[in-house]
Amino acid sequence: MSSKSFSLSAEDIEGLYLISDLASRAHRNNLRISNGPEASDYRSKAQNYKKLKVKAEILVEEESALEEERKMLERELDRFSTSLKVSRQRLDGGQNLDYKSLPALRLEVANLEAKVLEYTGAELGMIERLEELARDRSKLETMVKELAQEAIVARDKLEELRRDVALQDGLLQEELTQAKIKAMPEVIALINRVPSSVIDKVAYVVDGSCSGCRLRLSSSLGDRIRRFSSEVHFCEDCGRVLLPPRG
Ligand SMILES: [Zn+2]
Repeated sequence: MSSKSFSLSAEDIEGLYLISDLASRAHRNNLRISNGPEASDYRSKAQNYKKLKVKAEILVEEESALEEERKMLERELDRFSTSLKVSRQRLDGGQNLDYKSLPALRLEVANLEAKVLEYTGAELGMIERLEELARDRSKLETMVKELAQEAIVARDKLEELRRDVALQDGLLQEELTQAKIKAMPEVIALINRVPSSVIDKVAYVVDGSCSGCRLRLSSSLGDRIRRFSSEVHFCEDCGRVLLPPRG
């Protein structure tokens, strides 16, 4: 970037530094909302809560799927029990039976008894598992409630910080406005030439490098700064106003 023909007074330089400092402080202050410990605390607590809530929901689904399975099993069991009852009645009223079909009926009864036993056992297993799931879910739901509470507390703290930051920002912006009002229009024009993405608008030369972006100045810029030390220069990389160091 080119040099400007007007030169800065000590007061202008102080003004530039003050405006740059205030803008940086306001920026850092605002960053506390998204980058501070309060924000990361809230983020991690909200995440913990969500994770556990999903787990609890999965458990509820598992429970209702198992309950469906149990109902199906129960219907099968009812069918076997009814068949067993019918077959037993036929066997008990044995006089009317053809003796040849008796062994087959006995075998049928024995098979049905085995089925009823097997299905009863399976249903009991499912009931046990369902009770276990209900206990786990209830524990999980208690934990979900606790985590929700923690997340709410963290959110409130973040809200408190947000209010605090807004208050500070109001004061800093006011100071910044005052500093800009006091500065020469030429000084404001210099600041406006620095890219808006750069928060601290001024830097100085340290060992041939820009103190803002830490990049080395070209030899031609270095030459110009030496030859026209009273003029204003800009860093070729970051666009900051290059000032003589303070103090
Ligand atoms: Zn730079």
